[in-house]
Parts: sequence; C-alpha cells; structure tokens
Amino acid sequence: MFENALSFAKAQDAADPLRKYRDLFYFPQHDGQDVIYLCGNSLGLQPKTVGPALEHELKHWREEAVEGHFKGKYPWMYYHKFLLPQTARLVGAKESEVVVMNTLTTNLHLLMVSFYRPEQGRYKILMEGGAFPSDQYAVETQVKYHGYEPSDAIIELFPRKGEYYLRTEDILDQIKAAGSELALVMIGGVNYYSGQFFDLEAITKAGHATGAKVGFDLAHAAGNLPLKLHDWGPDFAVWCSYKYLNSGPGGPSGLFVHERHGKNPDLPRFGGWWGHDEESRFEMRKGFHPMEGAAGWQLSNAQILSMAAHKASLDIFDEAGIGALRQKSLKLTAYLEWLLKDIPNLKVITPTEPEARGCQLSIVTKTPDKSLFDFISAKGVVADWREANLPGEEGGIIRVAPVPLYNSFEDVWRFAKMLKDNA
Ligand SMILES: *Cc1c(COP(=O)(O)O)cnc(C)c1O
Repeated sequence: MFENALSFAKAQDAADPLRKYRDLFYFPQHDGQDVIYLCGNSLGLQPKTVGPALEHELKHWREEAVEGHFKGKYPWMYYHKFLLPQTARLVGAKESEVVVMNTLTTNLHLLMVSFYRPEQGRYKILMEGGAFPSDQYAVETQVKYHGYEPSDAIIELFPRKGEYYLRTEDILDQIKAAGSELALVMIGGVNYYSGQFFDLEAITKAGHATGAKVGFDLAHAAGNLPLKLHDWGPDFAVWCSYKYLNSGPGGPSGLFVHERHGKNPDLPRFGGWWGHDEESRFEMRKGFHPMEGAAGWQLSNAQILSMAAHKASLDIFDEAGIGALRQKSLKLTAYLEWLLKDIPNLKVITPTEPEARGCQLSIVTKTPDKSLFDFISAKGVVADWREANLPGEEGGIIRVAPVPLYNSFEDVWRFAKMLKDNA
C-alpha cells in the first residue's frame, strides 16, 4: 500500500482532497524553505485569515467603541454565540452544551467546582499517572481545597510494567475497584505523552456505574479526532484552542456540560454576570440566575480578540470537516508509522491501533538523550521533546504530530528520510 519514495509521497499529496488547506497557513522558515512543522499538537500554525479577522475587530473598536457591543456583523455582546454551532459540531455536542471562555485550566477548576463534590466516603479522583502537569496541579489543589490528602484521594493509573500505555480493561477494572469511594474520573481524551486516545464511552459508562462523575480534558483530542460528547455522555469536558485548533497562543478554551446538568440552576457553581440570565443581565439586580446549558458557567464578557482568532480558525475546520480530516489523518499517521518501522534504534510507543490514537506518534530513541532531537531541529524540523514521565523510565521522547489540515505526505517522507540518513 505504501512506498518509501518521494514520488509516492508527492502523488499522495496531489490526490489529497484537503491539499488546498495547507496554503491557508503561515509556515516558519528555515534556510529559505518552510520548516517541516510537526508540532501542531503543541501550538498550531497561524491561519492567514486570522490577521484580517483581528483587524476587523480592531477597526470595529476604533470606529464604534462601546457601540461595538451592539453593531456590526458580530456584535460583541453576543460574540460567544457565534462560536457555538462550529464548536458543537467539532465535539459532537448540542449547541446548548458548549461554550467558549477563559483558558483550559481555569475551566477545569470551574467545572470541578460543580462536578467534584466529595462527601463522606466518596471523595477520590481517578486520573492518568503522569498526566499533563496542569491537570495534576488542578486535581491536587482541588483535593486539598476540600481537605483531603492527595496521596489518599488521587488514584493514578499507570501502564503495566514494560508497557507504555494503558489497557482499557485495566482502566475499567480500576474504576470498578474504586467503587463507592470514587467521586470523579478526570482523564485526558488523548494522553499528551503517549498519544493514546482512550475509549471515552467505555470510561464514561464505567465511571457512572460506580456513581462517580466523569470529566475529560480534551486538549489533545479537540480538532484531532471526531468526538461524540453528547452520546458518550460524560458530565463535562474542557479543551484548549491553540493546539490542533490553531487559534494562537493562550487562545480561548471550550467547555462542555452535558444537557442533563444544564437545566439544573441549583447545581453549585461559581457565577459571574455573563452566566446570568441574558434577559435580565443588564438590570444589574441581586440574585444569580444561571442561563440554561453550558452558557450558565460563563463568568466574564467575551475576550473578543482571542475569540476572533479562534473563529477564523473554526471556519477553516468547519469547512474541511472533522470527518474528512480524520480520514486523511489516519493515512498520514499510518504512513509515518510505516516509514519509521524501517529505521533502527527508534521505537514508537503510541498505540498501533488507529482507533486508539489521533495523529501524534511518540518516539523513544535508543540514545536516551536529546541528540537526535537536536539533530532534526537543526535541519528544519519542528517537533517536541519531553522528558520521560513514567516511573523508572530514562531519557525522553520525541513527539511528532502530522496534522491533516496543513501537513503533507511529503513532510512525513522528508522527516523519516532525515531520521533514516542519521541512523
Ligand atoms: C495544553 C494542555 C493544558 C494547558 O492548559 P492551559 O490552561 O491552556 O495553559 C492543560 N492540560 C492538558 C492535558 C494540555 O494538553
């Protein structure tokens, strides 16, 4: 099916129905050429439409000032609503179940305020061991905030000895074993380190079967894989927009609250005026009445500039379609995996089953130092190095993410050739 030849890679690109999207992005330059950018899992490239979208809002502000809230194509007063249809399609939710606001870790805390409600005997949180540090710190400090000891209240899941990622059966067994002590399952959709995509539906079912709440951090899943949040049924989810979603550094976060909670105004939460009933928001009266749905978790008025960049990027995603992107992604990542198999001294630790990963592959090198990473970086590859994060493991990994919106089969072939020439 695959061939290790530049001509083959070029032919794949020529036949790629999504090939035009590459031209919508700016690539950093190296020796007068586009870099081989494989770091979209960390910070997505800048869409060429972002500059004009920002300029549109700056002009609106220059010319209308406070009236900009009510005038123009996208009045700021309702700006968050203009993001809802595309956001809902992206994560498989109803429009009332999503909203865009704040940043990811902030939203994780806000939703744990609502969905981590420890009580007598039921106070534990189950998460991946070696999770992204911000998630670890968020969970640790929430647990302490409620007066528990992290070493007792946090259950961390680690792969079996000699393995690099979690087996679904082990995750489900541990959820079951935690039983009535479990208050919350909080797991990443795609693990940032191994690239493993978890069986979110099975995890949701298992968590709910014990009586726990279930929430996901989808930082590495949103824009990477099609999701079905409404059907899978977790209680909440959060994600950021600057990785696969290309909305720029510090871009706004998305959040999901399942519809079964959205209609309950009594659910404990931290409130702010933008989450308050829209009809009476400007009457400035006492008494917080949350909007129905995810909108009722908003605190502040919309961050227009970062949301305008996000909207420009969502427009591209929506046009390309997450389903079509996934089809290309499956092929592109499989091609990279196939090329890497030929290269000695490398090992891919990401699951080999396509349904258990997105586009990222995590590579362990034989020399447990950064030398190979430094070599490819000097040659114009932008990838990512992470120190080992599992107990007893040395060195680190190179993470590469060929993203279907702007990476090509040629990028993947050139990258693999570089590794092979160096092997
Ligand atoms: C990128 C990432 C974050 C970053 O959080 P911010 O609040 O946006 O800085 C948090 N958690 C995970 C799993 C991530 O991948």
